[in-house]
Amino acid sequence: MRITVDRDKCEGLGMCQSMADDYFELDDDDELTILDDTPAEADRAHVFAAVQSCPVLALTLEG
Ligand code: SF4
Repeated sequence: MRITVDRDKCEGLGMCQSMADDYFELDDDDELTILDDTPAEADRAHVFAAVQSCPVLALTLEG
């Protein structure tokens, strides 16, 4: 399982961070960092909910 972000789409809106701040972090310039792009299987539902929360569909969960 891998999280990817399409940086052309990401607008730094922060929904993903509010859903899962252990995986997503925005800096002061609203630049997104994925803190861990290969989550443990046990975190799938948690990460998937955060990926789905992105209003501009910038996040993808592969695998
Ligand atoms: S919710 Fe989407 S647009 Fe907002 S910071 Fe996360 S990836 Fe970017």
